[in-house]
Amino acid sequence: MYVSAIIAAGGRGLRLGSDTPKQFLGLNGKSLLQWSVEALARASCIDEIIVALPSAHVSSPPAFLERAAKPVRVVAGGAQRQDSVANAFAAIDVRTTIVVVHDAARPFVGPDVIARTVAAAVQSGAAASALAVHDTVKDSVADASGKRFVRATLDRERIFLAQTPQAFRRDLLARAMAQQGRLHVATDEASLVEAAGFAVELVEGDPRNVKITTGHDLDAARSRGDVRVDRVRIGHGYDLHRLAEGRPLVLGGVIIPFTCGLDGHSDADVVCHAVTDAVLGAAGAGDIGRLFPSTDPQWKGADSLAMLRSAYRRVSDSGFRVVNLDVTVIAESPKLLPYLERMRGNLGEALECGAEAVSVKGKTNEGLDSMGRGESMACHAVALVTRA
Ligand code: MG
Repeated sequence: MYVSAIIAAGGRGLRLGSDTPKQFLGLNGKSLLQWSVEALARASCIDEIIVALPSAHVSSPPAFLERAAKPVRVVAGGAQRQDSVANAFAAIDVRTTIVVVHDAARPFVGPDVIARTVAAAVQSGAAASALAVHDTVKDSVADASGKRFVRATLDRERIFLAQTPQAFRRDLLARAMAQQGRLHVATDEASLVEAAGFAVELVEGDPRNVKITTGHDLDAARSRGDVRVDRVRIGHGYDLHRLAEGRPLVLGGVIIPFTCGLDGHSDADVVCHAVTDAVLGAAGAGDIGRLFPSTDPQWKGADSLAMLRSAYRRVSDSGFRVVNLDVTVIAESPKLLPYLERMRGNLGEALECGAEAVSVKGKTNEGLDSMGRGESMACHAVALVTRA
C-alpha cells in the first residue's frame, strides 16, 4: 500500500481579516500549514505529501517543506478547493493506492485519526472522519423578514460533522472527480464521492482537530497547552573563577566581606556570569564570551550585574521573558546564607522576573578539588524562558 496525502492550501482566503492567506498565519512559531504538514509527515501510514499552494507561492515555497520527514511536492492550487485537490491528485506517485485529503486549516490532526481513516478507506473505498453531535439539532426555515424558525428537530443520532482527514481508494476518487467535474461545487471530497454514487464510511473524528476559520478559533488555538509548550525553552550556564588576594568578592551583585575575591577581567562575579550564559543559552542568543570579550578594555573591572542586564535586553528583544531561574553557587567559605536573599533580589531585578522567580543555593565541595581547597568558586545556573 502506498498512501499519498494531499493538503489543500491553495486558497487565498483572507477571512481572518489579515492580508496573509489563512494557511500562512502563525500559530506559536509555525504557520497553520507547517503544523498540518508536520502532523501528516509524522503519521507512519503516509508515504508522501502533495501540497496545493496559491500559485504565487509555488515558485518560492516555504523552506520547512524541504525539511519534512516525508517527501513533499508542491503544486499550484486552483480557483476552488476541488481544483486544488485535482491538481494535487494529478501529481501523486504512480504507486499510490490510497489518497488522503486534509485541510491546511486543521493544524491539530493526530496520528490516530489519520490511521483510522486510511484503514476504513482500505476496507470501504472511501472514509471521512466525523464527530457525533451532542447538541440538539434543529432544521430551520426563514420567514420573509429573515427571522429563522424551527421546522423540525432532527434525530441527532444520525447527524455527524465531517472533518478532514478523508481518505479514498485512488481509482474511486479519480472516478468521482471525473464524473462530477466542475458541475458540483464541493466543500469536501466525500461529497464529490457521494454525488458519484459511492458509499463513504464515517470514522470517529477527533474533537481537538478543529478547523481554524475565525479569529476566535485562532486565538483559542494559540492558547492551547499542546502548542504553548513550543514557546518554552531552557538554558544552562556554568562558570568558575580563581580566588585571589586583594580583590573584592562579588557574588550575584552583592559585595561579600572575605579575605580574598575572584580574579578576572571584569568584577569576576561568577554568579552573574553563569546566569548570563543560562538566559542567553535559553534564547539561543550567544554567550557571555562573545557579548563581552575579555580582550575588550571596556569590560575591565565591569559590573557583571550591568552586563547581565544588557544580555537580558538581547533576550527580551527577541521576544523572551524569564519564567524562573535556579542557581547553585559552589564556595567552601564564607557562609553564603546571609547574602542569598540580596542575590535573589538583584538577579530578579536584572531579569525583570522578580525575586520570587529566582532561587539561589550555596554548596560546599567537601574539601575536594580547587573549589573545596578554597582556590576557586564556581556556579551553575538553569533558566526557563518563554516567548510571549
Ligand atoms: Mg566568568
